[in-house]
Amino acid sequence: MENLYAEYWERPEVDWHARIPHHYHVSQIGVDHSDKDPSEHYGPCLRQSFYKIVDELPKAPSSRGNLRMGNILHEQMQLEEKLKNPSSIIEFPVYIELERLARKISASGSIDIVDFIRCCYPQLFDTVDIKTASSYTLPKGDYDFNPTYFAQVMIYTYILQNFYFNPALIKARFLEIRYIDKHNAGVYVVRKAYDHEEAEKAFKSFVDRCFKLDEHLENNTLPETEPMKWCKYCEYRSRCTANALTDENTPSFTMEELEEMYHTFTGKNALWRGNYTNAFKGYISGFKIKE
Ligand code: SF4
Repeated sequence: MENLYAEYWERPEVDWHARIPHHYHVSQIGVDHSDKDPSEHYGPCLRQSFYKIVDELPKAPSSRGNLRMGNILHEQMQLEEKLKNPSSIIEFPVYIELERLARKISASGSIDIVDFIRCCYPQLFDTVDIKTASSYTLPKGDYDFNPTYFAQVMIYTYILQNFYFNPALIKARFLEIRYIDKHNAGVYVVRKAYDHEEAEKAFKSFVDRCFKLDEHLENNTLPETEPMKWCKYCEYRSRCTANALTDENTPSFTMEELEEMYHTFTGKNALWRGNYTNAFKGYISGFKIKE
């Protein structure tokens, strides 16, 4: 019998790391989190994505090692899943083309695991995303439902359900995030039921953001900043001042002026026992100060 899907599986994957113009990745774009406090989400930030495309900075060696370790654990978890559930698909590639007002772009991504549950009719599937975390970053409490990660897996599931599978025959069931603790390989699973309306909202926000970034790139204009929890680790933070208490470009002031500005904003002194406090150091690097 002819394999109707051969062409699909043989299509080469688009390497979004190559920063191909007009092509975006789900994890690079995400959804709009402006309704949330910056401490409640991990972005992505379109300004950061813009910088990464036009002027990418190399990763620190420590980050490279960290990423490699993450990839090893990631692959191991996928292999185990395949052994346990042979009908699951690992690294399921998705690709869609979008057009708006004569602007043509494409978006893609790769889903870590699509698990098919063969007991039912219609057949059900769960979409699984694997995240590696340290004991420090492993989610606890509110972070169990990290909105950034769930938005990503929601967009993927929406694409599968609406562009790939016939919902009358194959239906989305759960969205799952599997966290692996890099220190002890412990696994921590968080899942929630797929909600079509919620996923559609996330997908629309994702599409709007793809077009928005595309316009910024074409016009060479910076997107708005989108402050988030990990701004302090952003390689572009020194160019980005809008997440500071003021919109001033702090590196253009003298230390004395900065000390005075800090005192005016926080009522605190910049110095303690002759040294600058950590809060002050954060302030001059452009970070919002948590009181
Ligand atoms: S510091 Fe934060 S707001 Fe600024 S570019 Fe980086 S992620 Fe975006």
